[in-house]
Amino acid sequence: MANNDIKAIMVVGAGQMGAGIAQVSAVAGYKVTLNDISAEAARRGYDGIAANLARSVAKERCTAEEREAALSRIAQSVTLDDAKDCDLVIEAATENVALKREIFKTLDKAAPDHAIFATNTSSVPITELAACTTRPSKVIGMHFMNPVPVMKLVEIIRGLETCEEVREVIADVTTRLGKIPVEVKDSPGFVSNRILLPMLNEAVYCLYEGIGDPEAIDTVMKLGMNHPMGPLALADLIGLDTCLSIMEVLYDGFKDSKYRPCPLLRQYVQAGRLGVKSGRGFYAYERA
Ligand code: NAD
Repeated sequence: MANNDIKAIMVVGAGQMGAGIAQVSAVAGYKVTLNDISAEAARRGYDGIAANLARSVAKERCTAEEREAALSRIAQSVTLDDAKDCDLVIEAATENVALKREIFKTLDKAAPDHAIFATNTSSVPITELAACTTRPSKVIGMHFMNPVPVMKLVEIIRGLETCEEVREVIADVTTRLGKIPVEVKDSPGFVSNRILLPMLNEAVYCLYEGIGDPEAIDTVMKLGMNHPMGPLALADLIGLDTCLSIMEVLYDGFKDSKYRPCPLLRQYVQAGRLGVKSGRGFYAYERA
């Protein structure tokens, strides 16, 4: 399959990442099906895209006509059966291995044989998700960064069986979305989260041990290391549930105690303090 054969993309999960992926795909001219478990969740994702594109119009980054055209290319969906009309599915549902395995099994039955399955997982092995399907050669990792419309990088991860043709198609789609693909190996956390998450987890340990308050910890890393955001604010942006899940995958994958999740991170997730998306994490936020 050549890149220009990809016309219709289904995005599974209309949360912060899925909505961002749907937005850049629609802006790039693809027909997009934005799927979530409820009509309300799909609508929330769509409304977020509409608001983002309105801001782009206000900032003269795109015209009102381009916004309308992009929005008209997005359909909302609450059933994976809608994959039947798609050439590429990009899965961006909650970071939970069991959930993603189920989604891939269902998609495999619903989607046409030629369809490629990409996953935006932060840490689940691509090979494991590919093995849930009858098309492991057409399953690949496409790991976008947050916020998707702003960040240039997409990590591309081949599973054990992913074929070269599929890698080429996905690298081309990534470029067409205005992003830069970088290929890395299928290993827990890939490169980005293998390096980033232990740092964020260590910042949570600094808080847990009372070494500094959130402002102090974040200010040290911003002013001292020139990071654009402090690690605790970044963890809040990523989502503390997602951070915990990635640390667990690293810990399970390497069996090395340096990846143990900080107990305070686990406690915040238990308390429903998930960061920006729930209104409270290490900091308090206006609910979106
Ligand atoms: P999120 O919590 O904002 O959104 C997840 C969405 O998935 C929710 O709307 C939820 O209703 C939906 N969902 C759950 N089960 C579903 C199902 N069975 N079918 C369809 N939709 C379902 O999470 P997010 O931050 O958007 O993360 C999504 C994925 O992207 C995860 O795999 C995460 O690891 C990955 N990721 C996240 C970031 C980040 O910074 N947050 C960065 C890169 C990759």
